[in-house]
Amino acid sequence: MVDLSIVVPIYNEEDNVTPLHDRVVAALGDSGLDYELILVDDGSSDGTFPLLRELAARDRRVKVIRFRRNFGQTAAMAAGFAAAAGRVIVPMDGDLQNDPADIPMLCAKIDEGYDVVSGWRKNRQDTFINRRLPSIIANSLISRMTGVHLHDYGCTLKAYRREVLDGVNLYGEMHRFVPALASQVGARVAELPVRHHPRLHGTSKYGISRTTRVVLDLMTVKFLLTYSTKPIQLFGKWGIYTILAGVVSGGLTLYMKLFEGVSMNRNPLLILTAFLLFAGVQFIALGLLGEVNARTYYEAQGKPIYAVRERLNLD
Ligand code: UDP
Ligand code: MG
Repeated sequence: MVDLSIVVPIYNEEDNVTPLHDRVVAALGDSGLDYELILVDDGSSDGTFPLLRELAARDRRVKVIRFRRNFGQTAAMAAGFAAAAGRVIVPMDGDLQNDPADIPMLCAKIDEGYDVVSGWRKNRQDTFINRRLPSIIANSLISRMTGVHLHDYGCTLKAYRREVLDGVNLYGEMHRFVPALASQVGARVAELPVRHHPRLHGTSKYGISRTTRVVLDLMTVKFLLTYSTKPIQLFGKWGIYTILAGVVSGGLTLYMKLFEGVSMNRNPLLILTAFLLFAGVQFIALGLLGEVNARTYYEAQGKPIYAVRERLNLD
């Protein structure tokens, strides 16, 4: 088993892959860490793949996974994680914006006992209006909604103890939420400032449109974190309130008709009553469906409902 697996999603980075390999070797050469570099080619259409093949031929620590087409950065990361043999797994970008020189420091923090160490691009070298500003807003939103406070969820450079990733299924923009998902099952999370460089070669594959995707994925994560085990408590509560409101409005309707002689012909109260009773039943039904769904979700993944930090004298 190697100490460290570095996982790098790569999409059309022909000018960056060879310098990236050089920097990784330079950064980890004397660190005493036994590492592997997993390069995941996410369907590049430029000259990236032949270069990866060349790297793999001359350095046995380089492992390459090549996708059939472009599946996205998160999918590439997930493939790399699945192939990783290391005790610690470090994802990072392949465009030289993250600096491999920070890896030993992240690993040292893991050795202090943390399960997740997240990089913080304190001097982020991206444009303000369309990259840093949306990211500031997203980070405060994510921190507030997940209860795990990080300055920089979007930083790819992180370090994970491998067990942390075992139970995590990635999709969408989900890779950035791993610290929050991990923390839910008891992981110790730390954040450390890391270097960040401007992109010198090639272009960014993202623009502001990613912000919307991140926010929508955040809603899913929030739901998973809070209600995936108990959807009935979210929907059922509103179902009961709505039905109660329907009963009150129905009582009022009846009272007005019987004792005040108000005509109920085309009276909006009647419609309101019917609506509230109906909506309440719908809410409860939705909660029950959610329950069934949550159960299927956990069972399908064989996802345990607890996480053990250590075992003593057991296997
Ligand atoms: N990437 C990928 N698949 C994609 C888009 C990007 O593997 O569909 C890789 C890309 O090659 C880079 C990393 O993900 O290594 C981050 O992408 P980029 O630098 O474009 O994002 P930014 O730094 O601008 O957020
Ligand atoms: Mg980049």
